[in-house]
Amino acid sequence: MIPFLDLHKINNRFRKELETSFAKSLETSYYILGPNVKTFETEFANYCGTDYCIGTANGLDALTLILKGYIEIGRLKKGDKVIVPANTYIASILSVLHADLEPVFVEPNPKTYNISAEEVEMKLNKDVKAILAVHLYGQLADMERLKSIADEHNLLLIEDAAQAHGAVSSKHLTPNNQYPKAGNLSHAAAFSFYPSKNLGALGDGGAVTTNDKELYETILLLRNYGSSVKYENKIMGYNSRLDDLQAAFLRVKLKYLDSDNAKRREVARCYLQKIRNSKIGLPFYDDSENHVFHTFVIEVDDREDIIKYLNQNKIGWLIHYPIPPHKQKALQRFSHLILPITEEIHKRIISLPISPVLTSKEVNRVIEVLNAY
Ligand SMILES: *Cc1c(COP(=O)(O)O)cnc(C)c1O
Repeated sequence: MIPFLDLHKINNRFRKELETSFAKSLETSYYILGPNVKTFETEFANYCGTDYCIGTANGLDALTLILKGYIEIGRLKKGDKVIVPANTYIASILSVLHADLEPVFVEPNPKTYNISAEEVEMKLNKDVKAILAVHLYGQLADMERLKSIADEHNLLLIEDAAQAHGAVSSKHLTPNNQYPKAGNLSHAAAFSFYPSKNLGALGDGGAVTTNDKELYETILLLRNYGSSVKYENKIMGYNSRLDDLQAAFLRVKLKYLDSDNAKRREVARCYLQKIRNSKIGLPFYDDSENHVFHTFVIEVDDREDIIKYLNQNKIGWLIHYPIPPHKQKALQRFSHLILPITEEIHKRIISLPISPVLTSKEVNRVIEVLNAY
């Protein structure tokens, strides 16, 4: 059996370091907003190249707090429209709705699965105040074009980087001559540290990165009951803090993120070079570091059939995602929308095993099985 994702194997590589971190935390007993949160925030901001990072309870909260933060500081107001990709995980859409904003669904580019900049331009009107881009499957959205659209129309540009920790944009340099990473390609970005993400905690976790000091200070308050001084509440906040213990674990795993992403790319390159089957559509990849292969997604005409075949051959698979957000029961009021590209993609896709701990033997087995399909 080749599992879709072996989380035990992924984390067991760091067992000693994780146990040391746990022992230290147990000794010092700073459980909430302790020194590990603060240090991780600094380390992750440095990693992404941003001025600020704020740890949150999860990725959905990170997204929602960015939007609520912009409302708090007057950059957005209730009912404003936010452009979102129709083809994404439901969390991206929920964050907009939870912040009392109105999502405008936009179709993807069918080659990259990411939001189409041309379609974004067609959906602009005076009520649209922000664009939420998602780096789906770990591949950066077309941030250069989205940024120029946002700049031209004075819109906020936000990244859902929950699948793209460490993805590097090779298209332009930052002022200090570095290639910018996911999290530093917009006004504010949200990350998830859900265990299966490229940088995963041993539980829930999330973070916001930004260069905007006012937004940073506002989200610091929002995540902690609107408080910076204990029992003094400046604004109506929430409880959405990153656990100190999870921050300690993330500090261990952050050191290995780049090498883990490199291994994911190696697996992807192998699949792309060696899977040869006219029944299987392979994903677009420009061979740069703009993709961290959170998932490796193929397209097929008959998904039920390949699922049966993969099961027979004991190869794990998942579908990211089987039902598009606008067709979910929870979002019924959007079910009338006509989004044929998104709907077609959701019928055709299936994800193959990919991770930093997949052995070359396992990779070759997946290739052999798919080539014999
Ligand atoms: C995982 C994910 C989220 C949500 O993260 P949680 O930590 O599970 O709340 C948001 N957006 C995308 C694209 C994701 O993949």
